[in-house]
Amino acid sequence: MNEFSIIDKYFRPLTRDFAGAVDLRDDAGYLPIPPGHELVVTKDLLVENVHFFENDDPGLIAQKSLRVNLSDLAAKGAVPLAYSLGLVLPKRVDDKWLEKFTSGLAKDQKEFGIHLLGGDTTAGNQLTISVTAYGLIPSGQRVLRGGAKPGDLVFATGTIGDAGLGLKIIQHSVIPNEREGSTDINLHLAIPRSARDNKLIERYYLPQPRVGLIRALCDAGAVNAAIDVSDGLMADLRHILVESGAGGTLYLKQMPVSAAAQDFINHFTVPLESLAAMGDDYEIVFTSPAETEKKVQEIASGLNIPIHSIGQITDNKDYQIFNEHGQIIKPATLGYQH
Ligand code: ADP
Ligand code: MG
Repeated sequence: MNEFSIIDKYFRPLTRDFAGAVDLRDDAGYLPIPPGHELVVTKDLLVENVHFFENDDPGLIAQKSLRVNLSDLAAKGAVPLAYSLGLVLPKRVDDKWLEKFTSGLAKDQKEFGIHLLGGDTTAGNQLTISVTAYGLIPSGQRVLRGGAKPGDLVFATGTIGDAGLGLKIIQHSVIPNEREGSTDINLHLAIPRSARDNKLIERYYLPQPRVGLIRALCDAGAVNAAIDVSDGLMADLRHILVESGAGGTLYLKQMPVSAAAQDFINHFTVPLESLAAMGDDYEIVFTSPAETEKKVQEIASGLNIPIHSIGQITDNKDYQIFNEHGQIIKPATLGYQH
């Protein structure tokens, strides 16, 4: 298959409703920006055997590639607009693979209202997917990592740790090491990789970008800072603190944990700080002025997005993490290191 027949057969149909893509018949695509708006741009690269496994369902790989970018847009309060797609395809990629991959893209384009703008395709050894996503915010309404203010409440959407546990299950290497203070998970458990109906595994393969929440909070003046949780809750909250020049508290006891994750950690006595150090959740951590708490709760429940208050921003530079027993802990790792 050459690049042109791939474009004709698989990519052009994905641009049908989007004039800016010029039917993929030009050297570039065009994105009109409505007056009074700013374009928000983000890119996430996914590489096989690093971010996904070679034999993963191509449709899920496609959806995840889009969703990790949608999560960045969501955290910045941006309304999804378009994306461009860079692909490095190894020889084994055939029609069947491309068919499934582009069906996954089509599904999420519809679900999230985002359009394919263009891209580039080349042959290579390691399957690589590079998505650049574009979204819109009203000018002057950036929601940065660095906007947190002392006194703000810290919130997290959804539940934390599911995707990380799902990944551990997929890798067959579960179970915490019970040494005091350790966040290692290194024993072995035979959960078959075929257990694809597991909720935790599903969370790993198909994150739920929380599109709409930060936009609505920002419009209501009810958010100061936000980040999406890709490296781990503790690590990503740290990014907010560092960029904001502030300190903060994090109460792991208040961290939202799903029923499936709770079952798992009860069974294997995984400490909460292990969950809080796991990546791939694609939830959002944000901070809001304390006086807007009621409004924050109303907006989130109106959007059907569960949120929990998990800590506070303080005016010193300390980052204090409390475990479920209310003791201050110093975890060896806060999250995924790039
Ligand atoms: P150029 O040589 O000008 O870069 P290409 O031959 O690479 O153009 O691409 C032709 C058209 O197909 C362009 O509109 C480009 O955006 C589109 N295209 C190529 N690869 C992809 C892809 N992976 N996804 C979406 N569009 C693509
Ligand atoms: Mg090209």
